[in-house]
Amino acid sequence: MIIDCHGHYTTSPRSHEAWRTEQIAAHAEGKAAPPRPSISDDEIRASIVNGQLKLQQERGTDLTIFSPRAAGMGHHLGDATTSEAWAAACNELIHRVCTLFPRNFVGVCMLPQSAGVSPRNCIAELERCVLQYGFVGCNLNPDPSGGYWKDPPLGDRYWYPLYEKLVELDVPAMIHVSAACNPAFHTTGSHYLNGDTAAFMQCLTSDLFKQFPTLKFIIPHGGGAVPYHWGRFRGIAQDMKLPLLTELLLNNVFFDTCVYHLPGQELLAKVIPADNILFASEMIGAVRGIDPESGHHYDDTKRYIEQLPFSPTDKAKVYEGNALRVYSRLSARLASAG
Ligand SMILES: [Zn+2]
Repeated sequence: MIIDCHGHYTTSPRSHEAWRTEQIAAHAEGKAAPPRPSISDDEIRASIVNGQLKLQQERGTDLTIFSPRAAGMGHHLGDATTSEAWAAACNELIHRVCTLFPRNFVGVCMLPQSAGVSPRNCIAELERCVLQYGFVGCNLNPDPSGGYWKDPPLGDRYWYPLYEKLVELDVPAMIHVSAACNPAFHTTGSHYLNGDTAAFMQCLTSDLFKQFPTLKFIIPHGGGAVPYHWGRFRGIAQDMKLPLLTELLLNNVFFDTCVYHLPGQELLAKVIPADNILFASEMIGAVRGIDPESGHHYDDTKRYIEQLPFSPTDKAKVYEGNALRVYSRLSARLASAG
């Protein structure tokens, strides 16, 4: 089985996104949000059959771990109340997709984060999604201020109440920023990759995984700059008299394969142990075009994996085994979907 651990509902019905615009406008005017639109199963089916499902079938992957549109999380907009209502609406749609296509999609939730608001606020929605919807993880935004980094780093006790719940539920978090509202950062070109790199360094300089030995993070987009600068990170850890990165971080931190060219994937596979790499494409997402050099979509990442010198055992780990290990609840979820 080929499990794509990183997909977003970027093709959700327009009325869903339109409601978000209305909700934020109402909040700015101090009014109550309008009622949420009713969205039919047929609208949801059409958005998936002609989108993510079609690409799964064309590219030969089997299952996508599916979450709300990341740039749309918008934790810097509105306040804690609007974030709660928006997260609930987005997660409910993901649940409906996963119910309509139980063999192709398994849910991961977004959290109702808000800049400056305790992550404790996210616990109820996380629990609801995992226990009622059968979701297998969450996306955790390390910068709810959208490019201004106003909240404490991930190693800070500020985040502990959420980590305690993640550990209790035995679900991992993908560390994933949302849209940048700081004009210095392009959302997918710099903010996403900065977020990945910053999150890794925040883990490196904290005792987070000593405090939470079973907490698991997936750092997406191939880990941002991490594999390319692995020597720098090893050197900094050495100067700080820290253990080897393999001991310090690699029992808890995993990287996906959302790197959109072969040389980048080769580097990832050379630097990061196969046990820590999870197959992913983030389709349909950040980069939608066709690479004129290869003639294939940039985000058709399976094509790169097929060209890497993985042993059959390692390839099976990257495609399936690691995802089943990191998303501990996934096996049970798949069994229930037949
Ligand atoms: Zn993403």
